[in-house]
Amino acid sequence: MADDYELLMIPGPTNLPDQVREALGRPQISHRVSKFKGLVGRISEGLQALLMTSQPVLTLTSSSTGAMEAAIVNLLSPDDPVICVDTGKFGNRLGKIAEVYGARVHWLKVERGHGVSEAELGEACAIIRPKAVLMVQNETATGVSQNVAALSEIARSYKALSVVDAVSSLGGYPLQMDLWGLDAVIAGSQKTLMLPPGLGFVAFSERAWEAAAESKMPKFYFDLTKARNSLEKGGETPYTPNTSLFVALEVVLNLIWEEGLEQRWERHHRLARATRAAMQALGLSLFAAEDVLSDTVTSVTSPVASGELTKRVREEHQIIIAGGQDELKDKIFRIGHMGTCQLEQVRQTVQAVAAVLIDMGYACDPAAAVKAAEEAY
Ligand code: PLP
Repeated sequence: MADDYELLMIPGPTNLPDQVREALGRPQISHRVSKFKGLVGRISEGLQALLMTSQPVLTLTSSSTGAMEAAIVNLLSPDDPVICVDTGKFGNRLGKIAEVYGARVHWLKVERGHGVSEAELGEACAIIRPKAVLMVQNETATGVSQNVAALSEIARSYKALSVVDAVSSLGGYPLQMDLWGLDAVIAGSQKTLMLPPGLGFVAFSERAWEAAAESKMPKFYFDLTKARNSLEKGGETPYTPNTSLFVALEVVLNLIWEEGLEQRWERHHRLARATRAAMQALGLSLFAAEDVLSDTVTSVTSPVASGELTKRVREEHQIIIAGGQDELKDKIFRIGHMGTCQLEQVRQTVQAVAAVLIDMGYACDPAAAVKAAEEAY
């Protein structure tokens, strides 16, 4: 392992498997030759299986925020009323993007650490009659997982499109795009998918493609109709893609099938259980409400300033965990347990967090926490 290796226990970017690092170092290939086109075709099919959809999944060379922007500008027109389920930094971002492009955004602000209730969304839809409901499946900022199957059903009952950010959940816990009737699903490369940042994914339902044909928001790089046409022409992309990441993505998809998607969901669930149990054994409270706990990121109410805690865990143990953002700065810390993560990494993180907490004057029992993690796993 390189000298500067640090264990990433943040909610993305995550640690890279050796096979991905090897793939990233391969010689460059041209994106206009049949070899690459074949690869794009295989990736596209793999992503369809991952999202559980028969619709094309478009791979964009951009971070996930680019994929969020692409979804919005291709579905909506200026002045369209939309509801943004504002669960935290990322739920909020979808609304901000829509606002920049001139949509009339109605903010459904949700208490931090909670998800929106179906009743609240239904009431808001009845009043606003939105063209779309914007929401995250996994609010990374608070460690909250929302039931997007139920929420999208409510949106649909008001003829609204459901736009779902699955950036920090796809591949870590269940998402069934077609079965759940999701209209737009957005994801990214650097979370559970074990790749570096730099790829965004978007898929639209048939209803969403119909809306795209009418959409009047401006777009050029993120014109998804163009991207779809290129893909269907035989594995092309409209502009030069990040070829290395495409190569590595195929490796990742194969690793996922080798493990098994359901087994992978199960591993993430067990890692989440282990992390939660360990934190509670340290005497700490989970920040997210019990009914919405995320399987990919655990947020914990911090008994000390979390900025100092995360800094010391990094400097003294070479493990990176995340603090709170915006209004949660210094109040919570977050542990990402996704991608390559195994119980051993949770164990190391629990020990490091406990050691620094003790040093900062908080009394706790690291051994009991590790034992709790092992038992819960
Ligand atoms: N959505 C969610 C839920 C996220 O967790 C993140 C990043 O952490 C993003 C969107 C934005 O991703 P990116 O930084 O790749 O643009």
